[in-house]
Amino acid sequence: MTRHIAVVGAGAAGVGVADACRDTPTEVTLFDKASGISGRAATRRKNGCRYDHGANYINPGGDAWVDGFLDDLGSDGLVDIELPVWTHDADGGIAEGRGDGGPKWTYARGITQFAKRVRTRAAATVHTETRIESFARESDGWTLTDTDGESHGPFDAVVLTPPAPQTADLLAATEWSDERLDRLHAAVDAVGFRTIRAVLLHYPFELDRPWYALVNPDREHPVGWLSREECKPEHVPDGESLLVVQMAPDWSVEHYDEPLDSAADAVASLVATLLDDVRLTEPDWVDDQGWRYALPESSIDAADARCAEDAGLYVAGDWVAGEGRVHVAFENGRTVGRRVAGQE
Ligand SMILES: Cc1cc2nc3c(=O)[nH]c(=O)nc-3n(C[C@H](O)[C@H](O)[C@H](O)COP(=O)(O)OP(=O)(O)OC[C@H]3O[C@@H](n4cnc5c(N)ncnc54)[C@H](O)[C@@H]3O)c2cc1C
Repeated sequence: MTRHIAVVGAGAAGVGVADACRDTPTEVTLFDKASGISGRAATRRKNGCRYDHGANYINPGGDAWVDGFLDDLGSDGLVDIELPVWTHDADGGIAEGRGDGGPKWTYARGITQFAKRVRTRAAATVHTETRIESFARESDGWTLTDTDGESHGPFDAVVLTPPAPQTADLLAATEWSDERLDRLHAAVDAVGFRTIRAVLLHYPFELDRPWYALVNPDREHPVGWLSREECKPEHVPDGESLLVVQMAPDWSVEHYDEPLDSAADAVASLVATLLDDVRLTEPDWVDDQGWRYALPESSIDAADARCAEDAGLYVAGDWVAGEGRVHVAFENGRTVGRRVAGQE
């Protein structure tokens, strides 16, 4: 008999669930509040440029299985960013290498290709622009209600994959009188996330540097990460530069609601000083993305995470696995998906 599974969130973890349910008697329906899929591994297009304004690349390191998996999904447009990641310190000193090893995978058409290809291969149904507001346990299964008041279901199981604070909100709005819900909610609510405001700076000239990106390992510089999107094929036209600047959490929280123009002025000035190039104070256009829930700071206890699974309520995502990486979230989704499909 076919089991019907609802997955809230179509990021790496959500499509991982769908992937694990391939070739099993399971029908997966993904719901995402965004207009497209892929969550924090996001790509945007503007003024002839394409840029990944959340996750920058997939770096599974020495994990041969995941590398092989990317090939299986289709290697057309799959690219390794060849230039290295260097570091900068609190004083703005730039140094070679951080030894992150292995390929840095993305796609010429943007990092969203990963989730899109997994979803297509899994043939899962997706409802985008559908924000789930609450769900309820009824005699015939789980029913989900979106913010337009439409109800979906019943489903045999539901998997929640939004960042922990958003999953906690959903659990708080759940109708199910059972102590497992209280235990799960308390455990999810305790998982912290850090905030990152990403600011994009475009310039009508090229930057000649020996690195793709700079990262600040001591976490004492207001710029946490800075990368050159033109190092990715088909992202930035020749003769132009597009910097992705991810600000440190303290700066990001303090400036989260500041209008883009003044926030971008401040960021461009910091970048010009860091790269010792006064031209960088004046980008010709800018863009931004506030990631209130960017990266998990902790993870959920495994037993708490699984406490309601026998009633068909699951959680998955980077915060369940304990590391904010695309391939880790995906792998966690696959692991949970195998349990949902009864394969473990
Ligand atoms: C700025 C930044 C840089 C990063 N850089 C890297 C990097 O270079 N490499 C790397 O590997 N990782 C990086 N990461 C981390 C990586 O993006 C995440 O770990 C991974 O994408 C998490 O996937 P997920 O499926 O767990 O969650 P998400 O991608 O957050 O997916 C959850 C989905 O749930 C949806 N959702 C939320 N609430 C609801 C609701 N009520 N109803 C319906 N849908 C809902 C969201 O729209 C979202 O699509 C970065 C993250 C950020 C923010």
